[in-house]
Amino acid sequence: MSRESTEPFIPFALPDIGEAEIEAVAQAMRSGWLTTGPAAAAFEKEFGDYLGGGVTAIAVNSATSGLHLALDACGVGPGDEVIVPDWTFTATAEVVRYLGAEPVIVDVDPGTLCLDYAAAERAVTERTKAVMPVHLAGLPVDREATGNFARRHGLRVVEDAAHSFPTYSRGALIGSAAALAGPGGAAVFSFYATKTMTTGEGGMVVVADEAMARRIRTMRLHGISRDVFDRYRSTAPSWFYEVVEAGYKYNLTDPAAAMGRVQLRRQDEMFAARRSLAERYREAFADLPVDLPAEPTEPDSTHAWHLFILRLRAGAPVSRDDFIARMAQAGVGCSVHFIPLHRQPYWRDRYGLRPEEFPIAEREFGRVVSLPIFSSMTAAQAERVVEAVREILA
Ligand SMILES: *Cc1c(COP(=O)(O)O)cnc(C)c1O
Repeated sequence: MSRESTEPFIPFALPDIGEAEIEAVAQAMRSGWLTTGPAAAAFEKEFGDYLGGGVTAIAVNSATSGLHLALDACGVGPGDEVIVPDWTFTATAEVVRYLGAEPVIVDVDPGTLCLDYAAAERAVTERTKAVMPVHLAGLPVDREATGNFARRHGLRVVEDAAHSFPTYSRGALIGSAAALAGPGGAAVFSFYATKTMTTGEGGMVVVADEAMARRIRTMRLHGISRDVFDRYRSTAPSWFYEVVEAGYKYNLTDPAAAMGRVQLRRQDEMFAARRSLAERYREAFADLPVDLPAEPTEPDSTHAWHLFILRLRAGAPVSRDDFIARMAQAGVGCSVHFIPLHRQPYWRDRYGLRPEEFPIAEREFGRVVSLPIFSSMTAAQAERVVEAVREILA
């Protein structure tokens, strides 16, 4: 018998913000630097250091902005094509359109739900300029497979790393110098409120190439050759600047960066909390009619556990939609990641996409559900999730 829960609702996601973050934001506000200043500069430096150095980290106001800037720095423009997996958030594909280029949406691997390089292979044309692997849920797309594919076709790689901080692929952190795909590669992280670390809204573009870094910094702030902090610090007259491009307004504020610096310091602790939740779920659901999330099969690779995506098997007693409704009755918020792009009206209509072109995504979409997994979740909350799932599916 399912009972209406009388206990407080467990939301699908909650940011993990403590007194240290609140104090850091207050301090930034008291300092007088409300726009991009010393806290943003320190955040960039510390983020690059966390990735092991040898890269330039550029703070932006969202991952979407960062993906746009990274593709721009790769020279993507009108007439170009960019390969994007069907199974992602619309931001991955929309930024290609910002630049007047066309995303070529391809089906995913049935095990990982990440880009299927065999399908990508068939999508390459003379116009293909770049590929955007998405490390879905925090499961890394194998950097060797990505590198081989990109080299074979002479493509640039912009990794959508919105879910994958911190994630290792073959012993290298996603975004580190060793993991970036060649000198022209980029990885973009999200600090949106529900992501593994947050600044409310924010993101980080990471590149190894200095010319790309310069282009991204310039385009991040109106196409101006020096940012405000630079003008403040430098010995050249602070009133002087030059507009060298029609750029964007994508800079990260100092109060947001101050929050990010604290979140960055807490990353290992926050990751450990998510990993132990994932372990608890895996053990608790092993005998249920579900497929558990894929784990990396390559050596020295890890999962960031940003999302915990269960897949209901044909033998499950309820449909996915009913499962989510029953979980809500039991006081647990669930979600679906993602509604494949080919099902979204804009992408479907613009490119005439048909479901039969995406057999894997089409089949898997009907049976995926994301359970709550956030670092501030208590053991008691995790047990309530386990109990609710088992009551519905056991
Ligand atoms: C959240 C997300 C983004 C966009 O991140 P923002 O920081 O909100 O712009 C991009 N791609 C994926 C896969 C995401 O989940």
